[in-house]
Amino acid sequence: MKFRNFKMVDYVVYGRGCFAQLDEILAPRRTEGQPMVFLLDHHFEHNEAFKATIPLRGNDELVIADVTHEPKTSYVDEITNMLKSKFGKVSGIIGIGGGSAMDLAKAVAIMMTNEGLAQEYQGYDLVKNKAVYKVGIPTISGTGAEVSRTCVLTGPTKKLGMNSDFTPFDQIVLDPELIKGVPKNQNFYTGMDCYIHCIESLDGTFLNTFSQSYGEKALAMCREVYLEKDQWDEHSDELLMMASYAGGMSIAYSQVGVAHAVSYGLSYLLGTKHGIGNCIVFNHLQEYYPEGVAEFHRMVDKHQIHIPKGVCANLSEEQFDTMIDVSLGMKLLWENALGADWEQKIDRAKLRALYGKL
Ligand code: NAD
Ligand code: ZN
Repeated sequence: MKFRNFKMVDYVVYGRGCFAQLDEILAPRRTEGQPMVFLLDHHFEHNEAFKATIPLRGNDELVIADVTHEPKTSYVDEITNMLKSKFGKVSGIIGIGGGSAMDLAKAVAIMMTNEGLAQEYQGYDLVKNKAVYKVGIPTISGTGAEVSRTCVLTGPTKKLGMNSDFTPFDQIVLDPELIKGVPKNQNFYTGMDCYIHCIESLDGTFLNTFSQSYGEKALAMCREVYLEKDQWDEHSDELLMMASYAGGMSIAYSQVGVAHAVSYGLSYLLGTKHGIGNCIVFNHLQEYYPEGVAEFHRMVDKHQIHIPKGVCANLSEEQFDTMIDVSLGMKLLWENALGADWEQKIDRAKLRALYGKL
């Protein structure tokens, strides 16, 4: 048995208001003449008060990250080329936003020091050179992108991250003040990403005690936030921020499962966003996660969230086939969910029936 030896985030600062320390944190990482590049989620584009707190110095660059769609490899290449032609080298990339902006920051930081196109690095351990210094600062919590060793990208032929030891952030800044006021539905969809990470990790065959200890804590925090508390308050933001972190740590040593494997197909074909896509799929996974799905339904009811149905109603058989291909390609996820003999337990017909229900 060979155990995974995985790279983690180097530095973590946590606390309400800790974003104010960013200037001090970045100072020793600056190289004369090379800017820090802030990739800011477009949600904040016109938020002048927030933008004024971003510590821009010298020739630093603020790039508004368009996260209308989840990050594409072509968008990573576009930003990287712009930075290379404008500055040559940069001191670092700081991603401020949800999972999309953070993943974009990781990918651009990698492409600043690696030749070719981003699509060439979609896969496992394909990145050759250390990335430039990179910082992740979540403004929505749930994805665990702040701690993971991947950055999920949609490329011309696949939706797959750059999984590598060079992918995790050098620094993350966890300031619960930044996730205050995320609209109810978005908060729920991204929060459920965390909840589903926990269920899939804890129920998976890859589980070990490392993974379980984080998964159980993250699950308990999700329950407190979405089931036990009557009102959303500052403590809810703090709990969700740490649930996202712990949920991400849990899957670092295990894997996600059926909901993710199926929702990747949806998002590849239809562009369905990760959080809502997971909810659309998880809604129908009683067979695989009976208790988790029942609890999910209680959370949906309590928060009166709309989970779309019928998203595959008008698709052609060819389109179903595409989704099934993408889903079955997620071998590690299926193996975690169903065991080493997963190919005996899931087939195209079963997946076709499941997609048909969504
Ligand atoms: P997101 O980053 O796509 O953002 C969703 C929406 O919320 C966007 O419109 C954004 O502008 C807005 N937003 C951001 N901050 C806000 C704030 N404070 N208030 C109000 N609105 C705000 O959503 P997400 O669910 O955080 O991330 C999903 C992405 O993360 C997907 O691209 C997915 O593939 C990726 N992901 C990555 C990992 C990983 O390990 N790297 C894990 C899970 C998901
Ligand atoms: Zn997820």
